[in-house]
Amino acid sequence: MKSLIAESLDHLKHKLPDNVKLVAVSKTKPIEDIMEAYKAGQRDFGENRIQEMTEKYGQLPEDIRWHMIGHVQGNKIKYMAPFVHLVHGMDKPKRVKELNKEAQKNGRIIDCLIQIHIAREESKFGFDYDEAWQLLSDSPGEKFPHVRIRGLMGMATLTDNEPQIRNEFRGLKQFFDKVNNELNLPDFDILSMGMSGDFQLALDEGSNMIRIGSAIFGRRS
Ligand SMILES: *Cc1c(COP(=O)(O)O)cnc(C)c1O
Repeated sequence: MKSLIAESLDHLKHKLPDNVKLVAVSKTKPIEDIMEAYKAGQRDFGENRIQEMTEKYGQLPEDIRWHMIGHVQGNKIKYMAPFVHLVHGMDKPKRVKELNKEAQKNGRIIDCLIQIHIAREESKFGFDYDEAWQLLSDSPGEKFPHVRIRGLMGMATLTDNEPQIRNEFRGLKQFFDKVNNELNLPDFDILSMGMSGDFQLALDEGSNMIRIGSAIFGRRS
């Protein structure tokens, strides 16, 4: 019999267009749950704490692609630098520099996304659009040769107001397009937006990577 996790994954994947990547957000969930999803074919997993991700990395199959989706603390980058697949939460210029340094130590080029503060909530992290434009238009590939900026990430406001969520996602997509049209950044092709509660809106607005936790693994306690 299929596990509930495998069924939820199946159900979700059937709804996704081919160009959309699904990151299964496994934060707070035990190894056994992650293995259920793994056995169902899932390889991309997201965690929001570097320490938890590093512990899980050590206990799980090597072909899992680990995504750091949470706020990144500069002094912890070194723990994930050897293995992290994509860092979504680059939320200030300093972080890019720090990631570059740790990537270099590990002889790697690490992929990351610039997190933009699109929500109205103060509590969320990220660049504002002007700051992000400054970074992106100032030859980031030359300044940070061990970091490859692959695109943008954003979290919408936690609200029932769909037009507002849609607007926030739409603004991020427009900025993504503007960067692609006006700056010649290689491999700038990922737009990470959408979670369990709002991924349908995010897909409508052009997301190509969604980060889904509770709709796969159930509610977190
Ligand atoms: C927890 C988290 C998610 C997943 O949230 P769900 O609502 O459980 O799908 C996605 N993105 C980030 C940045 C998160 O912290």
